[in-house]
Formats: sequence, C-alpha cells, structure tokens
Amino acid sequence: MRTTELCDLSIHAALELLRRRALSALELTRAHLERIAALDGRLHAYITVTAEMALAQARQADERRARGDDAPLLGIPVAIKDVICTRDVRTTCGSRILENFVPPYDATVVTRLREAGAVLLGKTNTDEFAMGSSTEHSAFFPTANPWDLARVPGGSSGGSAAAVAAGCAMGALGSDTGGSVRQPAALCGIVGLKPTYGRVSRYGLVAHGSSLDQIGVLTRDVRDAALLLRVIAGHDPRDATSLDAPVPDYVQGLGNETDLRGVKIGVPKEYFISGIEAGVESAVREALRVMKGAGAEVVEISLPHTQYGIPIYYLIATAEASSNLARYDGVRYGLRAEDTDMWQTLFRTRALGFGREVKRRIMLGTYALSAGYYDAYYLKAQKARTLLRQDFERAFQQVDVLACPTTPDVAFRIGQKLDDPLQMYLSDVFTVSLNLVGMCGISVPCGFAGGLPVGLQLMGPPLREDMLLRIAYAYQQRTDWHTHRPPLSIQISAGG
Ligand code: GLN
Repeated sequence: MRTTELCDLSIHAALELLRRRALSALELTRAHLERIAALDGRLHAYITVTAEMALAQARQADERRARGDDAPLLGIPVAIKDVICTRDVRTTCGSRILENFVPPYDATVVTRLREAGAVLLGKTNTDEFAMGSSTEHSAFFPTANPWDLARVPGGSSGGSAAAVAAGCAMGALGSDTGGSVRQPAALCGIVGLKPTYGRVSRYGLVAHGSSLDQIGVLTRDVRDAALLLRVIAGHDPRDATSLDAPVPDYVQGLGNETDLRGVKIGVPKEYFISGIEAGVESAVREALRVMKGAGAEVVEISLPHTQYGIPIYYLIATAEASSNLARYDGVRYGLRAEDTDMWQTLFRTRALGFGREVKRRIMLGTYALSAGYYDAYYLKAQKARTLLRQDFERAFQQVDVLACPTTPDVAFRIGQKLDDPLQMYLSDVFTVSLNLVGMCGISVPCGFAGGLPVGLQLMGPPLREDMLLRIAYAYQQRTDWHTHRPPLSIQISAGG
C-alpha cells in the first residue's frame, strides 16, 4: 500500500491488517513519518516529532506481535497534545515558559497508550496552556486547517485535530477545558470526544482549569474513538478526582446498529440562536432528520441558563488558571530569567515567558478571586454553575442525549478573531456548558458549509460515553461524512 492509503486507514482497519500480518507497525509508522515530513511544513500541527523514538516503538510493537501479543493499539501511530507530559520528550504547553521542559515522567494516559502498544509520533501544537479556540495563541506558530490552509483548525487542541484530519496521525489525545477537543474536531471534520469529568486520569496533564479539564480523543471515526477511550479511561490512584467506576467495553458496545428506535434526543432550543451560520444550522438540522429517520424520537427541550455559560466559564476557568499558573516562578522548572533578586527574577520570568492571552487570563482570574470581588464574581459564578447543572439534570430526566451544533460557525480565517478576545471566547458558546456540568460529549462530522466541515455535538449524562458512542455510531453508519478527506491539493503542493 502507498503512504496515502496507509495514512487514510482507520485505526480499526489498520489493526485488522496488523493482526493478519498484512502490514507491519514499522511500515505504518514510516508512512506516517513520511506524511508528516511532506505536509507539516504547511500544517504546523506538530511542535515536536519523535521520529527515532516512534521507529523504535514500532519495531518493538512488531516484536511484541511476533510473540503473540495482541494489545489493543499494538503498532498504531498516535499524536499527543503538548500539554500532556511525556517522559524524556519535551512538553512545552505551547509556551516559552516551558519551551525546554522535559518531564521526568509520563502522564497516566501516556503510560496506558504505551502499554496498549501505541507508537508516539510526537507532540502537537496548542494554544498556550490550552487557552484559546484557534491554536493561534501558541507561542511558536499557528496551525493551519487541512481543509483550507488560510483558516484555523480550531483550538486549543488544533494540532491534534489537524494532524488526524490530514492523515499525519491515526488518532490523537487532546484536552478539553471548555471545548478544546470537540471544537477543533468539528472544524477539521473529525470525531472528538470529551469524557465525563473524572473518567480519564488527569495525572500528568498540565493544569488549566482543574475543575473543568478532561483529556479526550480525536479520531477519524466513532469506532476509533471507542478504541482509544477504552485504553485511556479508568480509575487512577494518582488523580484524586478520577472516578472509581468500571470501564465498559466501548467497542463491543457499538454493536452493528443503525437503528435508533427507543432513543430520545433532546434539542436544546437555546443552541439555535441568531448568529449561528446558516450552513451550520442546516447541516445539524439534516443530521437530526437522519436520526429521526433511524427511529429516534427528537424533541425540543430547554436549557434555560445556557446564556450564562460563557460568563460563568470565563470567570471560573480564569480563576483556576491564575492559581494553577502561579507555579511558573523561574525557580522550580521551566524558563528562568535571572535578575537582581528572587522577586525580580520571578517578575521577569513571567513577563518574558507568558504570552498575551495567558497574561490576560491571569489578570482576569486574579481579579475574580481577590478579596472584595470574590463574592461578586467567583462565588456568584459557582452558584450559577449549579443552576446550569440543574438544567442538564432536568433535561436528562426527559431525554437520553442532547443534540446541537458543536460550534456556531465553520473554521474562521487565521487572524480573524485574534485581536478580539470576546469574539474568540464566543467560539465556545456551545461547548463550555458541558465542562461546567462535568458531563460527556462528542462531536461527529455532519456535513459541510461552504466547503468546510460542520460538527454535530451529542451530549450525555455522567459516565454514559457508551451510549453517546453507540448513538454517534448509528448516525455515522447512515452517513458518509466521516469518509471525506481534505483536498489532495495540499498533499501535492506541500513539502516546502
Ligand atoms: N477555548 C476555551 C478557552 O479558551 C476552551 C479551551 C480548552 O478547552 N482548553 O478557554
């Protein structure tokens, strides 16, 4: 098979070939490294490519298989967002302050991927400390959307999404604090799943908003998402917020159903606001029709506090970030800009090490937490967050899942929202609530608007990733949106 074909395979199809010895992990990994070499000069999806390490891991995977090992991801090349710690591999968080930081340990998700036999291709670009919706806030370079190189891939897991969409990784991990897995998945035409808060260990994930952060998966189809989630989910004694609940066999659970009879889908009317792009709305409405055609009952529902999602999120996320980022002091690790004394060194390190968006959030968050304002902002936001959770709890007494657009518009142009933080924050209007209530969600490709991908978001109650995946899979079985690939032109014209 040629590189192009190998890089277009789904994970499950590649596993079949690997099991039948029709393909080796080494061939598969080489194909991906070649693809990265050909395309990443244009895409900039990767901050670090670990080619040597990947080839060594691929050889090991082939040896393991020769010994009869059939670990669930044996020989599958994947990418990891650069906010997740990898032992001996630089982990920058897209920031100058950690530009040369090499973690001495692996995040739990990385340990689990390694044990499952995955091959690590490298670390993907991200908005600095995962703060952003376009990957333009990376301290290094913006990532391009493989569907249109002049547009953003979304963010903050834009590097992971672009890599998977362009065939530069078979799957990837991202992190989702307010939408950063689902939103870039939607904008790049792939699947992105944010698990329930606590479903996946955050040990080794660099903290952004600790009560919101969750590691998720980005893949080209729903079955692949189930495969990856099954490997990384589960209790971890190293993360006190990780849930001690059994992990269902998400892959088995997909069945071969295309039938949605007995499934009740709620459509929150607050998610079809004015300002939503017409092509996005019509693609999502068409998806609802497909699910109805499959036998699902589709009903309108209300999540009345939706309009407070963005303000609540940007108070809580910035408050938590300002506290989490206090650890970058030029003393313990990361950049150190030496000055006259300890305080001056700290000030200078942070002044030089953090970018504009990070500084903006540290200031906002510190303000929201400061004496005299704490009650008015942070505490108020926490109370409103409870109301939002009650909206969802009430909704899930009436329906199984909620369906809506993942984003209000398709991928925007690089630079378009960079100088307007509020416009940028509004990109998350449909995704932030789910993090605030700690529940699970998935974005699946559901069409195109003006030639750019549109995402359908399904949201489910806590720990019901199995149900979300099953419904998403049934939808996918009835459509072919997940089979569309970005135009070949970028593959041919790339390399420079
Ligand atoms: N775009 C949102 C933010 O800027 C969400 C980021 C994320 O999920 N990491 O905070």
